Amino acid sequence: AGTLRMQVRVAPLRGGRVLVLAEDRTQARRVEEMRRDFVANVSHELKTPVGAIGLLAETVAESADDPETVRYFAGRMSKESRRLGSLVQEIIELSRLQSPDALVDPELVEVDAVVQEAVDRVQVEAAARKVTLVPGGTPGLRVYGDEALLTTAVRNLLDNAVRYSSPTSRVSVGVSRDDALVRIAVVDQGTGIPEEMRERVFERFYRLDDARSRETGGSGLGLSIVKHIANDHGGRVELWSTEGRGSTFTLVLPEAYGPSSPDDALETTEAT
Ligand code: ADP
Repeated sequence: AGTLRMQVRVAPLRGGRVLVLAEDRTQARRVEEMRRDFVANVSHELKTPVGAIGLLAETVAESADDPETVRYFAGRMSKESRRLGSLVQEIIELSRLQSPDALVDPELVEVDAVVQEAVDRVQVEAAARKVTLVPGGTPGLRVYGDEALLTTAVRNLLDNAVRYSSPTSRVSVGVSRDDALVRIAVVDQGTGIPEEMRERVFERFYRLDDARSRETGGSGLGLSIVKHIANDHGGRVELWSTEGRGSTFTLVLPEAYGPSSPDDALETTEAT
């Protein structure tokens, strides 16, 4: 750590002079290392469900004369293949978010509509886990961005809040504005996250409790997707947590002004 890596190229010029081109390779190296780690992690994560499906298929083939066993193992195969499908989808989503033109066509988005849609999508899972969802909102707040991506971000936070909560606890969502920033807070009464892990949970495939994450259908990519979506919108994710008491993840986004387009918004700001 701390070593500077330079790539130096030397070109001879007329009159015995030389041109020296020095390029800092530290950053390029780091990006390359991250890419290699990601590929290694992805292969590992994909091999597990693929291997399981293979074994289950063999068992089904060997149990052809026992319909009960066939039904049981076919059910497990279908569950594994659903997990594999959502993992592949999240990997694709994440790689799209990492490209420089992730936010191609931004528009004005109603924050309450995003929250409502995200709440609707986790309702079934929450009911199955006997977790009460308490939705909140602030009418009229808008941000500038991609509605589908913002919905995914809030939904991932809600999904985690539900999955890392105990039955009969509450998960609430609040929307507020503070200093031209919109804050969407997802509050749970779940397991909490120890201080030394609070940075790391946003890393790809990092999990506090591997078994719990997988058992509840986690890919390990949810929070890194949220972080990328926040960054692409000029925002950030904040995390407050007390171990054993719960966590609050807050998506902080710049508030949008203006009636319809960013040009109008600019005029409005200048006029006031
Ligand atoms: P996963 O699919 O494993 O949930 P995430 O990237 O969404 O992946 O989260 C990474 C890890 O952070 C989780 O495995 C879990 O250990 C921890 N985590 C995320 N959200 C919460 C929460 N609301 N309460 C407690 N732990 C959480």
